[in-house]
Amino acid sequence: MTNDTIVYRVDADDRIVSVSSAWDPFAIANNGREVTASSVLGKNLFEFIGDRTTRHIYRQMLARIRAGGNLRYRYRCDSPDCRRLMEMQIVATAEKGGVEFRSVTVEEHPRTPMVVPQADGALDPDPEELQRACGWCNRLDVDGTWMEIEDALPRLRLLERASPPTVTHGICEDCLARMTEELEFATGA
Ligand SMILES: [Zn+2]
Repeated sequence: MTNDTIVYRVDADDRIVSVSSAWDPFAIANNGREVTASSVLGKNLFEFIGDRTTRHIYRQMLARIRAGGNLRYRYRCDSPDCRRLMEMQIVATAEKGGVEFRSVTVEEHPRTPMVVPQADGALDPDPEELQRACGWCNRLDVDGTWMEIEDALPRLRLLERASPPTVTHGICEDCLARMTEELEFATGA
């Protein structure tokens, strides 16, 4: 099991002020673009979250934490050879307005490496054709049904295409409902 805790902090203006080694949380929200620690430090967190609904959730999360709440939720962060369940904990830092995001691996299930065109930043995705993916549970949208990648790939026939579609990361209805509930809980209401 990977034991690295992934930690990053933002200041009161949502600028990323520190990061620990691994960088998966951003890769999720980042449409597969490669992000290194040195390229994110000092930048605004929201530069790395393209999806509107996800931005909205992050704004709400930050507001809850700054108002004295705490938040903990689970999400998927897979790699081609491993399904990985992570737990995110978000807390206030000592600095005024500062917020810390801590991610730990809860479960890891090795699998036969998946060839996922583009999910890890493919070379030549087709910019015209979009494939929706949920950045929170890692499922793919197949004609309106959210599926695990193993089930989705044969249906999408991604491997047979000359150039894979561009994956856009958003949030599925199930994860949106779950996060909305978590957010309500975080207010103590
Ligand atoms: Zn989801």
